[in-house]
Order: sequence, then C-alpha cells, then structure tokens
Amino acid sequence: TRPKVYNFGAGPSALPLSVLEKVQREFLNYENTGMSVMEISHRSKTFENLLNKTKHDFKTLLQVPDNYEILFMQGGGCTQFSAVIYNLLAAKRQQIPEEEEFNPPLDYFVTGSWSAKAADEAKRLYNNVNIVIDVKKSKGSFGSIPPKEEWKLSGSKAAFVYYCDNETINGVEFPFIPDIDPSVPLVCDMSSNILSRKFDVSKFGVIYAGAQKNIGPAGVTVVIVRNDLLTNPKSVNDKDNGVTVIPTMLSYKVFVDNNSLYNTPPMFSIYVSGLVFEWSLQLGGVEAIEEINKEKSKKIYDLIDKSKIYRSFVDKPVRSRMNAPFRIVPEELEKEFLAGAEELRMVQLKGHRSVGGIRISMYNSVTSEAIDFLINYMIEFEKKHA
Ligand code: PMP
Repeated sequence: TRPKVYNFGAGPSALPLSVLEKVQREFLNYENTGMSVMEISHRSKTFENLLNKTKHDFKTLLQVPDNYEILFMQGGGCTQFSAVIYNLLAAKRQQIPEEEEFNPPLDYFVTGSWSAKAADEAKRLYNNVNIVIDVKKSKGSFGSIPPKEEWKLSGSKAAFVYYCDNETINGVEFPFIPDIDPSVPLVCDMSSNILSRKFDVSKFGVIYAGAQKNIGPAGVTVVIVRNDLLTNPKSVNDKDNGVTVIPTMLSYKVFVDNNSLYNTPPMFSIYVSGLVFEWSLQLGGVEAIEEINKEKSKKIYDLIDKSKIYRSFVDKPVRSRMNAPFRIVPEELEKEFLAGAEELRMVQLKGHRSVGGIRISMYNSVTSEAIDFLINYMIEFEKKHA
C-alpha cells in the first residue's frame, strides 16, 4: 500500500494501480521461473513470448495493418528525432537514380516545443530543412494550428513530412491528420497521446512514442514503421549532405530483422508496457478510452472557460485532451494554487518551466475520479479568490 495521491504529471506519469500491483505480485518470480523479469535472458523463450505478446496487443489496440512493423527501441522520443532522418533519407535515396543529385527537403510543422526541438535536430544533421509553419514565429506564441493555406509544404520532393500530434508542454493537439502529398511518408511524434484515441495508422510512414505517458515506464520507445521504408543501414552514402550511413542502433531495419533483440532491450519497461496494453484492452480498447478522455478533458476546459481566474492560452479546436496548460490571473495565485493542491495530495501540476502556470495532464490512467476531485478544488479555489 501507499498513501493515495492524484498524479497529474506530464511524464513520467501515473500508471494504472492494478498494473503496478501486478508488477509487485510478479516481481520476484515471473511466471514461476524463480527469477524476476529483470533477471532472465532476453534470448530466453520466456522473454520472447512476452515480447511477442506485447507487440501483438499493441497491434490490436491500434489496429496496425500488416504492412507495418512494431519496434521497441531505446533513447526516448529524442533519439527518434535523429533516427527518422537517417532512415527516411535512406528510403528516399532508393527512389532516386544513383547519378542524380540527392538533397530532398525535410518538411517540419513546428507547433510547439517538441516539434521545434525535432526541427532543430534536423538542422544539425542535414542541410535542407523546410519549415512548413512555425507557429511561434508567425503568431508570437504556440497555441494554434494555422489553416492549410498558410502551410509551405515541399510536395512530392520531400523525403518526409514531420509533425508532433500532441505538444505536451504547450497543450496543442492536432484534431486532424495533415493532408499532404500521399507519396511522401508522414512522420508523427505521438509520445504524449498514443493510445488515447483512434486514428488511421495507414496514413503514416513512421509513428513513434516514448513510453512514459500512455504506454509504461521510461526506457522503451515504440516505433511503428511502414515496411516499404525499411532500408539497409549501409544504403546511403551522400557525404556532401552530412548524412552518411545509418548508425546500427538507429536503423529500423536492424530492429525489424532482429525482432527488437539486436542488443539487450529495456526488458522491464517492455514488460510493464505489456501489462498496460492488457489493461487498455480490458477497458474496451482505444475506442472506450477515447470516450473517457473526451469527457475528462471537456470537464476541465468547460470549467476553465467559465472561470474568471483560469485562462487557457490554446485555441479551442486544437486543445489537447491529454495536457491542459493554463494560467491563473493574477499570476501570484499560482503558487498558492499548487501548494493547496499538494496539501490535498494532487501532485505534479506545475506547468513546464518554459510556459509557466499550471498543467493538468490527464493521460489514460488518470481516473475520472481524480479529475472530479481536482475540479472540485478548482471551483473552491476560485470562490475563495473571486
Ligand atoms: N516528444 C514529446 C511529445 C514529448 O512529450 C517528449 C517528452 N516529454 C519527448 C518527445 C521527448 O521524449 P524523451 O524524454 O523520451 O526523449
């Protein structure tokens, strides 16, 4: 047992209690092996079964088509900022005759801090990065997604189009899948909203998500990649562009060919993620979870919109169902709000240091009960300060 808290952290964040309890029960003796999951060989049948079941459940949850592969990689979401560049430039290289110059643009939507970081990494590694939109530059701050007329896409020339589906820090979530040239692979960072709602995997070339929000413990990153984009890690050699061969541990094909067992994977993270997938299926899958998430976030935003002291800085149509950042007017009240929340055991509500204020993260394992408890507190806090 542990003292009850309501955990609204942005990541690492709350895990379902029933999952943690199962981990505890199985901790010393996994499937009667007399060993903890952390003590068995990653090459054992026991672990291979666990890995394959985890992959299977994830595929079921997102209805991943058969022409996609699921990989369990390391290095978090940030490592994927680099990995997609190497892998998809290599895939594009295969379509261009050897003798032709090879310098395709990489198209980036910049709608918040994480896509900005991804675009910065692209600029470090490669010399032809095209910014489709940079909302902070064009509007002064993040909090909206401008209409298609303002997007500057490169069309079929691009090696890929990149976006972040849910900006964890800024609370901006795409309510649609960007409509792009269908011949260009669409790459998406879904670290903070994967498994929170249904979507059509077949629209994407690559999807990735660091585990530590809706999936499980930090340490594993789940990557979904369309199999026509897999290339030999040695297939690019355009030194002029700065990108040469794909480092082995970033190569999607190496992970596919080895069933994510090229080297020792983060076994414990994969194990707990598997339990979270089982829990998600028991809840009724992503469709059922989506309904609960809609309700939870609607309650929060309705309260903010009615309030005289809470202020959202995100346009209504693009407000995230996972992360609701907001400010309190006057801002001096924010400290008191957080302290009062802590006293009632509502924790990890502080906004990211780059935007300040408060942030309510309401991932899949944050219960409606937790949201109701918080709403009650917010109403009482406002009454006291009206
Ligand atoms: N992308 C998004 C949307 C994130 O929220 C985060 C982390 N919170 C990252 C990428 C970076 O992930 P990691 O810390 O696993 O590298």
